[in-house]
Amino acid sequence: MNNQNVLVVLSGPSGVGKGTLAKLIVEKEKDIALSISCATRNPRVGEVNGREYFFISKEEFKKKIENGGFLEYSEHFENYYGTPKDFVLETLKSKNVLLEIDVNGGLEVKKNFEKALLIMILPPSIEEIRKRLIGRGTETEEKINLRMERIEYELGKKELYDYSVVNDNLDVCADEIIKIIKIERSKLNEQ
Ligand code: ADP
Ligand code: 5GP
Repeated sequence: MNNQNVLVVLSGPSGVGKGTLAKLIVEKEKDIALSISCATRNPRVGEVNGREYFFISKEEFKKKIENGGFLEYSEHFENYYGTPKDFVLETLKSKNVLLEIDVNGGLEVKKNFEKALLIMILPPSIEEIRKRLIGRGTETEEKINLRMERIEYELGKKELYDYSVVNDNLDVCADEIIKIIKIERSKLNEQ
């Protein structure tokens, strides 16, 4: 029986709403699971180890790289982030898996998993990203500026992604992504 699940990558600039969307999507759809990445940065207020990320030290992260434990990893803002290979492969046996990672990570995943579905989240405008980052209240102005500088780079990779979806209204955007995943899952299993 052909019953494959889809490995979905959600990317887009920091502050565009990826984390918020990912949580909403897995709440709405029980057959989609969110992968939890490892990160070496400090948890933000309200973040819980094992929920937003597995927060590990740089030494632990390096060991995991050496042991081939990541599907992909990259460095952002002086910290490392990576997708744990075992979790993703195991979960894909029963559910579609959502990865919320940056564009380089997404393209790296596509190299290893040709069938991965790459979705880029676009902001309604660049200034809206700054508003959202300020509204989130988790970064200093300096860190917000660093994130703003990276936007153009991330959005420049849009053409390499399979789909782009604008996160204007959160609910509408989540529904649109769910629809794309369902369509692509059907296509995958028709082949
Ligand atoms: P990312 O994971 O891409 O860095 P977040 O999910 O943390 O972004 O969202 C950044 C901020 O923007 C959060 O405060 C979130 O509540 C807010 N946000 C997300 N989506 C929307 C939206 N569609 N409209 C308005 N605010 C949003
Ligand atoms: P934040 O610190 O705001 O949570 O995330 C910073 C950046 O790291 C975001 O662009 C986010 O998408 C990216 N990121 C989070 N997890 C991973 C991961 O496992 N791999 C890669 N390559 N990037 C990640």
